[in-house]
Amino acid sequence: MSSDFSLEELYRETILDHNRSPRNRGQLPDATATVGLLNPTCGDQIRLDVKVDAGRVADIRFTGHGCAISMASASMMTEAVKGLPVSEALALARAFKRFLTGEDPGRDLGELETLKGVSQYPSRVKCATLAHNALEQALDPETSSPTSASSS
Ligand code: ZN
Repeated sequence: MSSDFSLEELYRETILDHNRSPRNRGQLPDATATVGLLNPTCGDQIRLDVKVDAGRVADIRFTGHGCAISMASASMMTEAVKGLPVSEALALARAFKRFLTGEDPGRDLGELETLKGVSQYPSRVKCATLAHNALEQALDPETSSPTSASSS
């Protein structure tokens, strides 16, 4: 391994790649849940379409616009949860949010771990968790608390 190898650069490349070529972008005509969320701090907007079938996230797509962090995080999240049982998808979203507040996520987060640097910037954490909050609301509308409230 070369001495100027930088994990941070690798992370940045992964985030930029997702931002340039978002995975699972678009809408689902047969979505079982659709959630729109806004991060007023940064101006990020996301609409998440989820199709749950037989207790699994059968398909998931997102549209929206915002900063690179919010869009890359949404793209990575859709890849990570597609095909998972609903309970697993929710567990992943919650583990990611713990991860970004500096707690032990208690599991492997895959590419989402490239967003680790965001945890140093509280205002950016809202960008990175926007899609995950939308996922929670889509999959578990009764127990998730409203996160788009403007209580700053
Ligand atoms: Zn943002």
